[in-house]
Amino acid sequence: MLRSILAGLVLLSAATFALAQQPFLSSEQWVKLRDEASGAAPYENLRYLTRLHRVPATAEFDQAAQFVLQRTREYGLAEVQSEQFPIDGKTQYGLMRSYLGWTVEAGQLWEVRPQHLLLGDWATDPIRLADYSHTADVEAALVDVGDGSHESDYAGKDVRGKIALADGVLARVQALAVAKYGAAGIVSDMPNQSTAWSGLDRTVVRWGHLDARQPAGFAFMVSRDTAESLRARLRAGQQITLHAKVKAEVGPGHWTVVNGVIPGTDPAAGEIVYSCHLDHERPGANDNGSGCVTILESARVLARLISSGALPHPKRTLRFVWGPEVEGTMAYLSRHPDIRARLSANIHMDMVGGDPFKNKSILHVTETPWSLPSFMTDVGAALADVIRTGAANYAASGDAPETAVIETRAGEQGTRNQFLADVTPYAAGSDHDDYDSSTIAVPSLYLRDWPDIYIHTDHDTLQQIDPTKLRRVALIGAAAGYVYATLDAERSRHLLPFYASQSEVRLAQLFQRAQQVVADPKLDAGAAWYEASNLLHQGLQRELAMLSSLLKFGGSDPNHSTQEKALSDQASTLNSWIDSQGQARGAPGAEPKAPWSGDAAAQKIPVRVGEFGPLTYQNDDVLKARLAPERMAKIKLLSSEATPLLNTQDLSELYAYEIVNFVDGKRNVGEIRDAVSAEYGPLPVHLVSDYLDACREAGIMQWK
Ligand SMILES: [Zn+2]
Repeated sequence: MLRSILAGLVLLSAATFALAQQPFLSSEQWVKLRDEASGAAPYENLRYLTRLHRVPATAEFDQAAQFVLQRTREYGLAEVQSEQFPIDGKTQYGLMRSYLGWTVEAGQLWEVRPQHLLLGDWATDPIRLADYSHTADVEAALVDVGDGSHESDYAGKDVRGKIALADGVLARVQALAVAKYGAAGIVSDMPNQSTAWSGLDRTVVRWGHLDARQPAGFAFMVSRDTAESLRARLRAGQQITLHAKVKAEVGPGHWTVVNGVIPGTDPAAGEIVYSCHLDHERPGANDNGSGCVTILESARVLARLISSGALPHPKRTLRFVWGPEVEGTMAYLSRHPDIRARLSANIHMDMVGGDPFKNKSILHVTETPWSLPSFMTDVGAALADVIRTGAANYAASGDAPETAVIETRAGEQGTRNQFLADVTPYAAGSDHDDYDSSTIAVPSLYLRDWPDIYIHTDHDTLQQIDPTKLRRVALIGAAAGYVYATLDAERSRHLLPFYASQSEVRLAQLFQRAQQVVADPKLDAGAAWYEASNLLHQGLQRELAMLSSLLKFGGSDPNHSTQEKALSDQASTLNSWIDSQGQARGAPGAEPKAPWSGDAAAQKIPVRVGEFGPLTYQNDDVLKARLAPERMAKIKLLSSEATPLLNTQDLSELYAYEIVNFVDGKRNVGEIRDAVSAEYGPLPVHLVSDYLDACREAGIMQWK
């Protein structure tokens, strides 16, 4: 009985799934995209990529690029090309300094005494030689220096000419052990990413890179098990002698960026750019072979349906780019200012194929930062939800398998897993940081798995990848890109009520946060009241900007006064509740008062000057490159003692990224402070002006 009732319910809901991708696409369009999308094709492409050690500016990276180039041609993309960008550690691409290339012939590490044991060999397992290792041929004792990234680790130890065993940040160990204390090289088990599962699997070997700008040193990466056993033997008084032999050069080279397009019918309508990053150490299956083959599959699906006439030609061009992470994006945008000016939306994929029951991942549809509100996230979120609902229904009942988008047709069989996906706030750490930054300002739909317990290790293999998930994400990518590429004035007007309702929900959610802030015992009553109202105020501005972004993108009249009034009314009701809570706590005055209202420094208005781009990159930090180390150490926002709020470096970096993004020549320092405080939590205004002062000294901005 129960079974039949459930089956009836399921049937009813299955019938509605077919329409659930509306209002963005018709059912016919969705079904065509869905049926064309394959998980087997990207999975087989990934099989090839995972055999290559794809460190940027190396021969194997170029081999991967060559493979993608060949596929984009086969798939019928136009204007396909592979571009090279010279790098020498100095050449600038926008604000970013280029890095260096690396050529390796060999790298072996042996324990020669007391045991005869191979610890690492580039030829069979290249992840074991840290990137940017230099030539060496040395037989030397191993010395345990603990973490190895602090001066105190070297007290009473002689590492000169020896090999240091350390698990601290590799570039810092290099600067101390090698550059300062004369060690020949390093053996490392540095944990380079942390999750709740970190350390549980002690057999994984993580990759590491040395600082290519330092002139000497090599490092071999070993598992935690291996490192701990070496440490135990050293502690027991054993002398361990290693022989390291490396033949490798760090020097000028080139980055390679492959790109191609599906041309739109109206060159003036703007372009949609798909991105990923083609680099990473072997195998690098999820990070980020998966993103590369999945945008490639989105390209194949769209090229085929459009060229066959199954889908009408979109008016906007769809562009696809494969290059080294962050750096390839900057190089490409810097060489092509014309293309940069035409870009209006980005779809970025970095880690999108993990089987969640193996690597513990959730696929996150990631919002743009608050400095760049955009309608784009909701498109991706709605499409992901269609698949999620279909997959959940199928997993529970076996009904309507087509709505679950399972890969069963060829190659490796996909799973029948549910689609574990959600929407999360902006998170940093990939090429979308470039696109979303204020001087590029191309909003990014960023799709990413997190966590992934095998990230940056030799266990990030094809075995962790689910062809079903590749198919689902390729479908989201193709469908979202097609929505962006075809969105016109009429359609954007039509979508407005859908968006306004999403905005209402988000404002209501923000009110929950505002209630916590106004009651926060760590803030005095006046401050709590101000921060809570600021949160609602900034949230409302963000929602209104999102609605405008939809209309502007479609080329429609950006007036949305009906929706604006409804949202403003909602916000003012929510605000009045916050007011009574603030006043009940004893907050003084008739209105909340900004903590910076009497502060002259807060009234100054910064303006960006000079080259485009954010201030931090994969291998470059603009402030560090331009300011003396003593000056850097004084930047309060970036120093850990500044405030307890910022005790994690991540939060400092997010604040810094957004402070720079909110600089628009109109907002003053206090207003920028309010904007980032709503996004990441209240921040003292002097931290903002202090940081902007450093930016001014580095030549990135001026006071108006
Ligand atoms: Zn990545």
